[in-house]
Amino acid sequence: MKNKKLLMIPGPTPVVRRIQDQMARETIAFGDPAFVQDYKDLISDLKTLWRASGEVFVVAGTGTMAMEMAVANTTKAGDRVLVVSHGYFGDRFVELCQRKGLQVDVLASEWGTIVPVAEIEKQLSENTYQAVTVSHVDTSTGVSAPVAEIGEMMKQYPDTMYIVDGVCATGAAPEYVDDMNIDLLLTGSQKAFGVAPGIAVVWASEKAVAKRKSLGTIPEYYIDFEKWLPVMHDPAKYFATPAVNMVWAVKEAVEMMKEEGLEKRYARHEKMASAMQQALEGLGFTLLAEKSCRAVTLSNLIYPEGIDDAEFRKVLAEEGMMVAGGLGAYAGKMFRLGHMGNIDTHDMVSVISVIERALHRVGYPVDLGKGVGILTAALLKGDQNG
Ligand SMILES: *Cc1c(COP(=O)(O)O)cnc(C)c1O
Repeated sequence: MKNKKLLMIPGPTPVVRRIQDQMARETIAFGDPAFVQDYKDLISDLKTLWRASGEVFVVAGTGTMAMEMAVANTTKAGDRVLVVSHGYFGDRFVELCQRKGLQVDVLASEWGTIVPVAEIEKQLSENTYQAVTVSHVDTSTGVSAPVAEIGEMMKQYPDTMYIVDGVCATGAAPEYVDDMNIDLLLTGSQKAFGVAPGIAVVWASEKAVAKRKSLGTIPEYYIDFEKWLPVMHDPAKYFATPAVNMVWAVKEAVEMMKEEGLEKRYARHEKMASAMQQALEGLGFTLLAEKSCRAVTLSNLIYPEGIDDAEFRKVLAEEGMMVAGGLGAYAGKMFRLGHMGNIDTHDMVSVISVIERALHRVGYPVDLGKGVGILTAALLKGDQNG
């Protein structure tokens, strides 16, 4: 008999039954008062939980669309923007901005490290930028940017929009829109929210909304804040058909976050990441991300000497687990393992155990149970410390 498939790529992440059930509900009219109320409640919760006094947009689309939505609504052709890139998804902003006709300056880190805040500050002091983009977690490298610290520094540049890509962080690592001085925070449903792909969420500060208004008509249509604002204020209004079942699914994910408590959810992700990373290092893998800037949502694991990527991932798949390959220069040298959203201790133990079995099967010397032992000890220790 085949094992169940463990979906451990960094998005989509495992979708639990109660969220699946929302997607399986009979679809109703988007104007049905019951749905209108659900949509309203979701919008209100997203504002409260992320401490955002501005607006939030919940629209059908992916994380990439949310990136484009943030840029499209706050810049115009000819503007100068600074892209802080910690990998593949940071770099995605470069082409996206160039196509919009923006002048793009890039501060890029070596993969596995981050651009120091002082360097960003220096760049901002030397030029005038309409916007700065930062990926909270770059999924290609597994590094996490100090978004709060950057936000604090950005207070000296009130005319520059601070755009944070939270696609691989939102719901797993702290993000408080007002407190962190973020102008645009964006995410997608399929990563730390633990929902299937299909919904983009963008939080916009009052400053960002005012900036959009100051731009007049923008070239983009579907992703225009001005088109969606009336709907977000009153979901009974129509602009483009809301993804009814997906809105319900995201609402259920947010209900789960409320039940767990966001702070506890953030702490859980730290504990899970630390335990997983200790176990994987114990098995011989090296993390690409430096310790000082490691993400809690995924681990990017460089193989020990002698392991063939294609063979290893094929064996993992046979054993019942999907992981992602390395990107860029790390293709073939590394695999990427998501550990975010609604996964539990059972999942983590299984994940480490599958990796041990695969190491054994490809002929790498491994003490079966060693990784599981390290993981379990680290999780129990965390429990005792509260
Ligand atoms: C996954 C990801 C994206 C892209 O999201 P899609 O839903 O695939 O469009 C953007 N940024 C980051 C940091 C991501 O991890």
